[in-house]
Amino acid sequence: MEAPRDEFMREAIRLSIEKMQAGHGGPFGAVVVKNGRVIARGFNQVTSTNDPTCHAEVDAIRKACQALGTFQLDDCDLYTSCEPCPMCLGAIYWARPRRVFYGNTKQDAAAIGFDDQFIYEELDKPLPDRQIPMQQLLRDEALAGFEAWTTKEGKTEY
Ligand SMILES: [Zn+2]
Repeated sequence: MEAPRDEFMREAIRLSIEKMQAGHGGPFGAVVVKNGRVIARGFNQVTSTNDPTCHAEVDAIRKACQALGTFQLDDCDLYTSCEPCPMCLGAIYWARPRRVFYGNTKQDAAAIGFDDQFIYEELDKPLPDRQIPMQQLLRDEALAGFEAWTTKEGKTEY
């Protein structure tokens, strides 16, 4: 497998600075690379679009999947200017790129006020003890959706 290329990380870093300075959101950029070229560029747009899920990695993954016409980033590398938060890490695992390269660490992000350590700590707590409590409701009725999936013909599995 080819070595990571600094130029792609520099593109993610450039996005993190330029898009932040243009007022889009926080200082985070990401690119998706396939076959040696950038196929998608993402950047944080949380505050400009009122979308708390619009982190650079999620934005880049969405655009890359649109460009490729698929929901999987086969043989793609993700370059992100900062170590992914738990939400983006989840998105990365769902999208299944082959590798991730990051610039800043999550400690660097925490030092400027973007601290996601509490989310990692939440994962280890019992559900009712979390900052946002979670409670189960109507499981028997909710299972109807799963039963319908199980018997659905011609579904796209993933
Ligand atoms: Zn994130």
